[in-house]
Amino acid sequence: MWNIFLSLALFSMAVAKVDYTGYRVFRVHPTPEKLITIKALVDEYDLDVWSDYRHKGDFMDFMVSPRIQSLVKDRMTHFGISYETFIEDVGSLAKVRDIPPLDQDVDAGNAFNYEQYHTLDEINDWMDALVAEHTSVSKMSIGKSFEDRDIFALKFGTGQERSFVINCGIHSREWVSPSTCILTAKTLAETNDATLINLLNNLAIYIIPSANPDGYVYTWTDDRMWRKTRNTDTKGICDGVDPNRNFDSHFGGEGSSSNGCSDAYHGPSAFSETETQAQRDIVMSIGNVKGYIDIHAYSQLWMIPYGYTTDPCADNATLTTIAVDGVNAIQAVHGKTYEAGPIATVIYVASGSSADYMYDVAQVKCSFAAELRDRGRYGFLLPEDQIQPTFEETFPALLVIANAIVDGTCD
Ligand code: ZN
Repeated sequence: MWNIFLSLALFSMAVAKVDYTGYRVFRVHPTPEKLITIKALVDEYDLDVWSDYRHKGDFMDFMVSPRIQSLVKDRMTHFGISYETFIEDVGSLAKVRDIPPLDQDVDAGNAFNYEQYHTLDEINDWMDALVAEHTSVSKMSIGKSFEDRDIFALKFGTGQERSFVINCGIHSREWVSPSTCILTAKTLAETNDATLINLLNNLAIYIIPSANPDGYVYTWTDDRMWRKTRNTDTKGICDGVDPNRNFDSHFGGEGSSSNGCSDAYHGPSAFSETETQAQRDIVMSIGNVKGYIDIHAYSQLWMIPYGYTTDPCADNATLTTIAVDGVNAIQAVHGKTYEAGPIATVIYVASGSSADYMYDVAQVKCSFAAELRDRGRYGFLLPEDQIQPTFEETFPALLVIANAIVDGTCD
């Protein structure tokens, strides 16, 4: 009987899901004048921008529902804007496997498949199994989400003097980010490599696999393209806050939105979100954090502060060297080209971001933000066969930062 109820519950969840069948992602290469027209179209039709225009010669990707596709195409043609259909059918790529019934949860120790994307329950089970199997790994809750889920961090290494915080999944639809944190944690837990063991003797590494658990659950149950938190208390007509505009560093400035329906909505106040409070609190409470990286997807970027201004930060030269070494390390693995540089220069001006806050306020000298694979072919819907290679190339770049922390470069 319970199974029937469970099936009905799952069935009704499935019905409630946003169906992306027929949604297309268009790519445009606008001139500066045409860019204004495109931005107006985006605002008018509330289009979901997957990759924003960054600099002269750049492209812009946005998703259009079937209902307004011919309208938007007509408008682009009318204004002389050429476009290509970059993703023909978002729905066919957005299909996720069914969420396993609760009583059939993957038992992480036995059957955790590292080449798949996982539900939050599976990730939490896996964390428990990892901690049970490796006495060197510990787990802590660093705070609660809006819907009262624990946000967990895993701790590796015995170094007392310096720490490195690796954050994943703050934007919930960027699924390859948690997967990369999971594989990083597995690798650190299981390593027999003398160099890596030596590193962990001199450093504590904290990994947060799912920094926005409500949003992540929502991407599985309701809307694969959900980016923000699930805060329903924002007094607006739309739910959620962009956590990466919610930090108390130039809060509400350029590159963040006061429109509650925008995917870049900064929230009612700095640190209105418990999820961003958790980030702040763990870094502040550890006390000796010298390195921080907030891992996103997509676009293949390895970035340093600032986001709020194109002015270079005080440690621009040092951080640029670490970032360039990082992208070289990435390229050496599978040949993927990443771009290194300040957030405001390589993406766009964005205020209230985690990387700026950690650098300016929390005094974490080696503060980074990354965008992993790809460059838009699949965007947020990166196929599962790219999970492992994405991790393989990201890991050496994380080690570049870890080594810089250990050798005192980040003090
Ligand atoms: Zn992101």
